[in-house]
Order: sequence, then C-alpha cells, then structure tokens
Amino acid sequence: MKKLIVLLTAILMGTICLPAQEVSASSNKINTQRISKKWKKSKVKIKFPILMYHSIASTGNSLNVPIEQFEEEITYLKSHHYYFLSPHEAYTVLKTNKKPRKNIVWLTLDDGYKNNFDVLKNLYKNYHAKATVFDIINSQNGGNFLSHYQLKNLKRSHIAIQNHTFHHMDLDKLDQQKQVEEMSTGKDNLDTLLSQKTIALAYEVPYNC
Ligand SMILES: [Zn+2]
Repeated sequence: MKKLIVLLTAILMGTICLPAQEVSASSNKINTQRISKKWKKSKVKIKFPILMYHSIASTGNSLNVPIEQFEEEITYLKSHHYYFLSPHEAYTVLKTNKKPRKNIVWLTLDDGYKNNFDVLKNLYKNYHAKATVFDIINSQNGGNFLSHYQLKNLKRSHIAIQNHTFHHMDLDKLDQQKQVEEMSTGKDNLDTLLSQKTIALAYEVPYNC
C-alpha cells in the first residue's frame, strides 16, 4: 500500500488516484502570502520529500521504526539543515513555489500510535522540528492509539494532527458516498476535538492504482 496525501480546505469529492506521495493542493483559504513572506521563490518546480513513519517501537508490525533509529534520522536531517514543514507550510510551498530553506521535508506519522507521544512531545523543543500525525479518528483513545488528551497536548507542542479517515478503510473499495463520509466525518471530528480547520488528508490506495 502507498500513501496519498491531499491538502484541502474543502471536503474532497470523488475518487482520487494519483502517483505515490504526490501532493495535490486546492483552495486558497490558507494565507500563503503571509506564510511565504520571507521565503525564496524557485525557478524550477519545487519538490520535497515526505517521510512516512508509523509506530515508533522495536516490536510490532513491519512498519515499525525503533526510537533510536527515529532519533538518528531526525539528527541527520538537522545536521543537513532541513526545515520541517507544517501542513500549512507544505501547502504554501506547492501553491507559491517558494520555500523557507534549501532543504525542506514534511515529517509525517500515520495512524496515531500511542508510542508516538513520547517521541513527538519534545521534538520541537529538542530539535526545533515539526511533524504531522495523520490520525485514525475511530481509533482515538484505543489501547495502542493516542488519547484525546495526548492529541491536544501534541498540538500544543507544534505537532499538527490531521485526518487519516474515520475508520482507516481502503477508500478505493468504497463507493463515492462512503468515501466522502470517511473523509468528512474524520475532518469534522478533528475540527471539533482540536478546535481547528483540518486541511490535510492521508489515505492508502493500492500500488496498481
Ligand atoms: Zn494508515
């Protein structure tokens, strides 16, 4: 499975099928001018890596990354002067073709695992790095997943919480009405829980899309 990230300020309608890790952006409700005021315009189309983590632990499924490895990778990015984008900044880069630094990256963690809390709560304080958790709304407060308290706490620590659909279903297998429900119910719940306007959605689509 690959991940598809879509940035949006309106509810996305219909089926989407784009190349892996491609990001599409729509709507101009984000104040890109204010965000990019001091950024540098590029003559060539800007592309940037999106790093996708899941559980930060030594055991579990094949997508796990041990905490030591995660910290090593963040340290590497810091030593190579990477700027860590927020979702609003990622959108602004795509919209304006301007960027805040030569090296930029969007650090993301999918599903909202409980163990993300310990590695993310001091990420900004220790590394001046921002990250985005794409959270499965229906899993919140479950055994292995972030609680409402932790999500609110992370948000206060420069960690963006965005939408990974309500039930984490394969949208490719749903009809249009159900797809919209999965996306919009996820967004509405996050908007209410965190008093925010959720702008980004990540969901999984098959490789042969
Ligand atoms: Zn996922």
